[in-house]
Amino acid sequence: MDSAGAQEIVRDAPPGPPEIYCPFCRKWVHGSQYLSGVFPPGGPDRGSYWIAGIITHYRHEHIHYYNRGVGYAARFHSYDKFKVLVNNRIKRRILRQQFKFLKANNINKDHFIKLSNNDRETMILINSKFKLNLKIKGQSRLFEF
Ligand SMILES: [Zn+2]
Repeated sequence: MDSAGAQEIVRDAPPGPPEIYCPFCRKWVHGSQYLSGVFPPGGPDRGSYWIAGIITHYRHEHIHYYNRGVGYAARFHSYDKFKVLVNNRIKRRILRQQFKFLKANNINKDHFIKLSNNDRETMILINSKFKLNLKIKGQSRLFEF
């Protein structure tokens, strides 16, 4: 962490995709080759790469019900809906519990809005946290993860 309080959130990890820093477990974790193509971490989408990577990491490492839930969801043919629901819960947890971290590292509303399938509750929270008045419908659906 540098003297300004901000820290590196994405770092190169050749030959793999860039790693991301998880503020929940305070560790560097694997990034995703796929996500590094969707959100090139060397450019303005670095924050989206970080959020999407944290969501994937969080789903598998921080939520113990997730793997059981996947089996349940698959049996009822609604895995995608289940995943969207869980992803949105994680986005809200990041916004609620890590907002200072986001601000310190220049992760802003644009980085959240670029993610797919933001639901109504998440959009309301984005509006409230970033003091915005964005329309709740019509988000882009750039990718699935
Ligand atoms: Zn973690």
